[in-house]
Amino acid sequence: MRFISTFCFLLIFCATASVAEAVQLKNVRIWAAPDSTRVVFDVTAPVQHSLKLLNDPFRVAIDMKNTRLIDKLAEPASQDKFLRRIRSGEYDNFLRIVLDLKKHSRVKSFQLTPNERYGHRLVVDIFNEREERSLPAQPEIKDEALSLSFRDVVVAIDAGHGGEDPGARGPRGTYEKIVVLQIAKKLAALINRERGMRAVLTRQGDYYLSLRKRIALARKHKADLFISVHADAFRDSRVRGSSVYVLSGRGASSEHARWLAEQENASDLIGGVSLDDRDDLLMSVLLDLSQAASLEASIDAAERVLGGLRKIGKLHKPRVESAAFAVLKSPDIPSILIETAFISNPHEEKKLLNSAHQRRIAQAIVAGLKGYFGIHAPEGTLLAARKHIIERGDTLSGIARYYRVSLRNLRTLNDLSGDRIKVGQVLTIPAASGG
Ligand SMILES: [Zn+2]
Repeated sequence: MRFISTFCFLLIFCATASVAEAVQLKNVRIWAAPDSTRVVFDVTAPVQHSLKLLNDPFRVAIDMKNTRLIDKLAEPASQDKFLRRIRSGEYDNFLRIVLDLKKHSRVKSFQLTPNERYGHRLVVDIFNEREERSLPAQPEIKDEALSLSFRDVVVAIDAGHGGEDPGARGPRGTYEKIVVLQIAKKLAALINRERGMRAVLTRQGDYYLSLRKRIALARKHKADLFISVHADAFRDSRVRGSSVYVLSGRGASSEHARWLAEQENASDLIGGVSLDDRDDLLMSVLLDLSQAASLEASIDAAERVLGGLRKIGKLHKPRVESAAFAVLKSPDIPSILIETAFISNPHEEKKLLNSAHQRRIAQAIVAGLKGYFGIHAPEGTLLAARKHIIERGDTLSGIARYYRVSLRNLRTLNDLSGDRIKVGQVLTIPAASGG
C-alpha cells in the first residue's frame, strides 16, 4: 500500500520490465463508494508510472511512461465525493493524467494482472485524508422506548460483487451485482419494518468492497447474522433454482458448491484488492471452536431461509450446501450465502430482474429469519425478551409485580396507554428493572 501526502512527496515506479512498444491506455472506469473513489485504467501492458499529490488546487498527477491515450477520458459523476474532473496531457515519453480533486485526500495505486474479464489494469484509489472508514447513515433504533431495555437484532446484508466485479452475467446481459443489490435493499427495508430487527447493508451502490471489508463492516455494526446475497450461474442454462450455503472447513458438499466457492472467492481478484491488502486469514479455512459454535447457528439460519425460498420457487439443492466461501469466514457471526436463482437460466434471469419477484425473495428470506431469531435471538434483544400471554384474571399491575418490572416500562414497551388488557393478548416483558 502506498500512501502519499502533500508533505511527503514521493515518486514511484512500479513496472516489471521496460516495454519497447508504447502502452495503450484504452479505457477509464470510475467507481464512487461512500468513503472512496476508485479510478481504473485499462492498459495493454503493465505500466511504469508515478503518482504525485499536489495542492492549489488539490489534484493527483499520474505520469505513465511510454503510454498513449487512445480514447476519450470518462467524466466523474457530479455527486462523486472526491473527483471533480480527469484531464490528460501527452509529453515526449510519458502520458500525464491529472485527477482534479474536490478536497485534500490520500491516494494509492496498484496494478492488477489480466483475468477472464479484464486485461492489465492500473488502479488508483482516492480516499479521506484520515483513513476514517466512515459509513453512510444507517437506520437507527426505530422506537426510542424499546431502547430502554432491549436492542434490535442486527442483520448485515451483503450484496455480492460490485464495481469492477460484475459477478455472473445472464444471457440477456444482466449483471449479478445489479440485481443482488436491488434484492439486498428490498430485504433491508423489510427487515427494518420488523419489530426488534434492524438491517445494515455492507454495499450501498455500484462499487467494490473487498471480502475482508464486508466481514469487517458486519463486525463494526455488531451484526448478529451475516447474509451474502448472490445469483448463481452455470454453463448449462437449463439449471435453475435457489440454494443456501454455509462455510465448510472440510471440503465442499458437492462439485458445484466447490466450483461456486472458487468463483465467488475470485471476487477480490476481479474487483481489485492490492496484494498487500490481501491476508492469509481469508485464505485459511481452519475453523476454531468459536467458529464451530457459530456454524451450528449458521446451518439453522440457512435451513430456515431455504424453507422460506422453497415456498416461492424451485430449489437447486433440497438441503443446505457448504463450501469454503471466504466471505462467510467471520469467526463470531453466523453467516450464510444465498444464491437466489440462476442468472444463467433465461427464465430465472427474467425473474431476478422483476421487482415483484425480488420482493418475494426478500419476504421468503425474512420469513426464515423470523424463525431463526425465534430460537437464536441473543440475550438483551427484544426478540429474546420474555413473553406473557394474558389469562382471565390478570391485571397489568399484577403482571408487573410478578415479573418484578416497572408498570411504566411494561406500558411503554407494549404501547399501552391505560391498564386495559385482553385475554390472549401477548405482552413483552421488559428486562428486570427492580423499579
Ligand atoms: Zn456471486
